[in-house]
Amino acid sequence: MNIPQSSFPRVVIIGGGFGGIALAKKLSKKEAQVVLLDMHNYHNFQPLLYQVSTGGLEPDSIAYPIRKVLQGYPNFFFRLANVEEIKTDTKRVKTNIGEIFYDYLVVATGSETNFFGNKGIETKGMAMKTIPQSLNLRSLILENFEQALLTDDLHERDALMNFVIVGGGPTGVELAGALAEIKKGILPKDYPDLDTRRAQINLVQGGDRLLPAMSAKASQKAEKFLEELGVNVWKNIRVTDYDGKRVSTNTKTIFDAETLVWAAGVKAVGLKGLDAEEMLCRGERLRVNHFHQIEGLEDVFAIGDVAQMESEDYPHGHPMMAQPAIQQGRNLGNNLVRLLEGRPMKPFVYKDKGSMATVGRNKAVVDMPNFKFQGVFAWFVWMFVHLYFLIGFRNRVVVFINWVYNYVRFDREARLIIRPFKKQNRVKRDNLIQD
Ligand SMILES: Cc1cc2nc3c(=O)[nH]c(=O)nc-3n(C[C@H](O)[C@H](O)[C@H](O)COP(=O)(O)OP(=O)(O)OC[C@H]3O[C@@H](n4cnc5c(N)ncnc54)[C@H](O)[C@@H]3O)c2cc1C
Repeated sequence: MNIPQSSFPRVVIIGGGFGGIALAKKLSKKEAQVVLLDMHNYHNFQPLLYQVSTGGLEPDSIAYPIRKVLQGYPNFFFRLANVEEIKTDTKRVKTNIGEIFYDYLVVATGSETNFFGNKGIETKGMAMKTIPQSLNLRSLILENFEQALLTDDLHERDALMNFVIVGGGPTGVELAGALAEIKKGILPKDYPDLDTRRAQINLVQGGDRLLPAMSAKASQKAEKFLEELGVNVWKNIRVTDYDGKRVSTNTKTIFDAETLVWAAGVKAVGLKGLDAEEMLCRGERLRVNHFHQIEGLEDVFAIGDVAQMESEDYPHGHPMMAQPAIQQGRNLGNNLVRLLEGRPMKPFVYKDKGSMATVGRNKAVVDMPNFKFQGVFAWFVWMFVHLYFLIGFRNRVVVFINWVYNYVRFDREARLIIRPFKKQNRVKRDNLIQD
């Protein structure tokens, strides 16, 4: 990999997401050589992917070059590499660009969409976990409306304008709300010769409430907000299959829809060599102790979505969210410094700062540890927090200007089919671009 030899111990980090970046920042001024490997050369701010999918933001404004985050640190090296295997016996990482030795290894590979083995949904449905996938969804939505204009068949036209979003967590709720706003504010202007009132946005949730990880009040309010926006909320229904046109469920309800978005599950991004049965927990997460060390390995750590640290308060590990990943990255950074200095490491303690979701203009729900609120104020808090955590001054400015413009003009101008999308090529295309 052509990384210079150093007298400092080498820490290899796999993944430049929330956890990997937080860790690299902590270590980069310390006496360690830090090598960050990622298959993308950018950090992806996943919480705003749904805005890319729905034309509210350009992808560039939620992505940031990893090299730029850590510019100017002499002991920091980035390599664009797809990690293929970990060889713990020889302390080496095998990648598509060669192998690298580590003194300490940190796995921060995040999570990917979990289709639970359902091939129909995986090949015909849409996922929204990466920027290419969000762009695919944006293209498909717009192409479907263009296609709807061309057909005389009412049933086909309705199916082209029907959306089924599976999963009532924050991703499903936010996407459903954004699509409902497009239906109301944009489609009638863009497609005056199409009866866009017939477009249906269906949010299907397997459980008995939306946002199950949030308070009951937040769930109720989110559902009420969605219904006000005209979203059909279906609860206690599980989607069982999709053939590209028809969505089957475990009830008699079926949906004819050309677009199905799967937001009903994620699993950890695993790596060959770290897949022993005793290392893995539910969702293929890597079991780690309170110092982030992977079960049975003292010099290999895992943080963020890929890691499961069980405790009394979090028996199934921390939520797969940005805050746990960031806090774990920072704690591990401090611990590695302690380790290098021969001092004992400190166990990780998660500080829950709350969670939030937005449904649309002036409509959001926020659960803070001691304070829960919904509505306009919650929406402003949601915007402020997301702007704060976006990486890069330019991105913050661009997103802020876009939001103000969209708010004032009731518009979303990035509704562009830059890269046409063909559903039948979905898996091939996702693989080509992101894997
Ligand atoms: C649509 C969506 C909305 C979300 N909204 C919120 C929200 O509102 N609030 C919130 O807190 N959280 C939200 N999340 C979850 C949050 O984004 C994740 O919890 C967080 O990104 C986890 O951080 P991480 O560092 O573990 O992994 P990630 O940020 O996913 O980073 C993993 C990195 O590893 C790289 N990688 C993976 N495998 C390899 C490999 N083999 N070789 C090289 N590189 C590899 C990837 O390219 C990626 O850069 C959302 C997620 C999604 C998908």
